[in-house]
Amino acid sequence: MRILDGEQDTCVIIDGKKVINFCSNNYLSLANDPRLKEAAIEAINKYGVGSGASRLVCGNMVLHEKLEEKIAEFKKTEAALVFNSGYVANLGIISAILDRESICFSDKLNHASIIDGIILSNANFKRFAHKDMESLENLLKNNSDFKNKLIISDTVFSMDGDIAPLKEIVRLAEKFSCPVMVDEAHATGVFGKNGVGMVEHFGLKDKIEVQMGTLSKAVGSFGAFVCGKKELIDYLINFSRAFIYTTALPPAVCAASIKAIGIIQDEPERRIRLWQNVKFLKEGLAKIGFDTLESESPIIPILTRDAMLTMEFSKKLFEEGLFIQGIRPPTVPVNQSRLRITVTSQHSQQDLEFALEKLKKIARGLCLL
Ligand code: PMP
Repeated sequence: MRILDGEQDTCVIIDGKKVINFCSNNYLSLANDPRLKEAAIEAINKYGVGSGASRLVCGNMVLHEKLEEKIAEFKKTEAALVFNSGYVANLGIISAILDRESICFSDKLNHASIIDGIILSNANFKRFAHKDMESLENLLKNNSDFKNKLIISDTVFSMDGDIAPLKEIVRLAEKFSCPVMVDEAHATGVFGKNGVGMVEHFGLKDKIEVQMGTLSKAVGSFGAFVCGKKELIDYLINFSRAFIYTTALPPAVCAASIKAIGIIQDEPERRIRLWQNVKFLKEGLAKIGFDTLESESPIIPILTRDAMLTMEFSKKLFEEGLFIQGIRPPTVPVNQSRLRITVTSQHSQQDLEFALEKLKKIARGLCLL
């Protein structure tokens, strides 16, 4: 693991070297926003550092409740519930709503936390080919006698940066009377007219039963949430072991998240800048001749295939002042290694031009172009 000395920013000191950061999920550059820091410090002064216990014992503080109200207002759902991380949220939600009598239909490229949640639930586990609606329909058709069913999909896929065909998923879900759960980790704050996520982008608010998202990416803070009907939230409070048996989030983290959601609502210009940066970089990469798969988000892969070569590429970029991680198996399939670039709203035109120039130069040197 490389060591970051300083704040999460577009320009960072890593292993003692100043580099431009193209690795973080801090899409709206909020992780070190002075207003979030101030909110967290105020909360520490008022509420202390630790929350002391789980929510159901005596750790349920005013700020947990306020954060959940804010998330529900932002996502326009009846209620929301906060979890301690996105990983834990997927474990806690899925294992609570599915059991060994249930069946789960999951996109093949869903995040590891979804897979682990399904395994923990003991449900029958069927994977459909990535974004392949024929594959999903066949599975739904062949398993129609299960009473408790669930389709789960990321809305933005974390390693390919492509997006789920949510409208088609909902159409099939309605046809086969199957509820849908989405993971909006990389869409919250990024997609939709108001930054609410992909559910807003596709206008499917009332069609998705379980919406999960994180506070650790565009929101710039930490933790995660699920939102939906009050009945779902009440059920999870009572049955989700990953919610019940763990100490509540520190109050300062909740305060920072509340502030960040307010900023996302009040400052659409951040999102506009982010998308301008995404467009510029993606067009530049295409012009050079890189294969960026089907990315439609601020996550832009550069397919390099060979794992060793990918790590060599990443190392050379670092030497030239660019921090871009190589991703290799088992995170991606064999021969699908890649560089994973993430763009943020605060990257400058200069940063992007510098990245394009170095990527081209090094790729040529490695005979990748
Ligand atoms: N879901 C997806 C799609 C993710 O990409 C991630 C984080 N990489 C998570 C869940 C887990 O979120 P967290 O980092 O908050 O645990």
